[in-house]
Amino acid sequence: MAIINRIAEFQPEMAEWRRDIHKHPETAFEEERTADLVAAKLHAFGIEVHRGLAGTGVVGTLEGNGDGGGRAIGLRADMDALHIREVNEFDHRSVDEGQHEGRMHACGHDGHTTMLLGAAKYLAETRNFGGTVHFIFQPAEENEGGGRVMVEQGLFEQFPVEAVYGLHNWPGAPVGSFAVRPGPMMAAFDIFEATVTGKGSHGAMPHQGVDAVVTAAQVVSGWQTIASRNTNPFEAAVISVTQIHGGEAWNVIPETVVLRGTTRSFKPEVQDEIELAMRRIAEGVCQAMGASVEMRYERRYPATVNSVAETEIAAAAAVDVAGPENVDRDPTPTMGSEDFAFMLQAKPGCYIWMGNGSDEGDRRLHSPHYDFNDEALPVGASYWARLVETVLVK
Ligand SMILES: [Zn+2]
Ligand SMILES: [Zn+2]
Repeated sequence: MAIINRIAEFQPEMAEWRRDIHKHPETAFEEERTADLVAAKLHAFGIEVHRGLAGTGVVGTLEGNGDGGGRAIGLRADMDALHIREVNEFDHRSVDEGQHEGRMHACGHDGHTTMLLGAAKYLAETRNFGGTVHFIFQPAEENEGGGRVMVEQGLFEQFPVEAVYGLHNWPGAPVGSFAVRPGPMMAAFDIFEATVTGKGSHGAMPHQGVDAVVTAAQVVSGWQTIASRNTNPFEAAVISVTQIHGGEAWNVIPETVVLRGTTRSFKPEVQDEIELAMRRIAEGVCQAMGASVEMRYERRYPATVNSVAETEIAAAAAVDVAGPENVDRDPTPTMGSEDFAFMLQAKPGCYIWMGNGSDEGDRRLHSPHYDFNDEALPVGASYWARLVETVLVK
């Protein structure tokens, strides 16, 4: 593997940063300690620091020592943790108190932040490129759309770039491997809530009421026909009801039942179809049963779609670091989602997966057993550095 030597030298230092961040997890828009740490390191490397976009967002700006003709690119890492209580026992396990209580870096954003810092350190030392790199450290990737907020607050007006690049670790793929494809990599993510209202009654006398439980159950079943009967079988669609709330007693039929969940799709047309069909089925079933329904459907993240030219550039940088045999150019997309999608809606760019080693012992993303693999740190940092040196040629 062609890890950059200088980056390999400070792998132990990067592992220390990563473990420090891991130990102090912060969730959406509360990444204050993490942002302080990122800003202090960038500053120490001699990189211009800008703070405040989306609250805790940090952007570092570095010029190369060659004439880039005004060219610039953005590299993005995410800083937030999850509301998960860690079960690992190692020394750098999450501090479970104060603002860190019940939180954990279970998605490896501690590693992502560290790898981009590692690349920043190397690039600030060498400046072996022409043009400008913006190191973008975003808050709130999980659920709350910190990337969207940065874009809305003028990220690319303040820091104009021709393209933006993102990276995510992938447990179960070997360290030193990458996977990337043009087109969709990850799905659009929507949420829904349906409040079914019937007429509450005695559990022994259902004829005196309108049963919201039975009605809601039919709505759930009806929705499951959307992916099998309505959308094109060649287009991916997932509808998952993840919560059913209703009732408190053994012998009372409740007046209301609330259904919540998520949908996933890759194309806006499919997303439209899912929403329309969900509303039609919920309203139709409830009307047939003599109940009523109030439905909320909210679009959260669009699909993460890589542009063709930038995917070639990213794949070439990955091949430079890992060798062609270790770069999968046609991975199966996943129905997971990413708020880097908002940056890719604003600018061309590419999102790549990087192997994080074995996922044995349940070391999967969002598991309380997860830990980012420190051996992957120099791989990701070298990828970022190579990407900059190859795109922004002097
Ligand atoms: Zn995650
Ligand atoms: Zn993540």
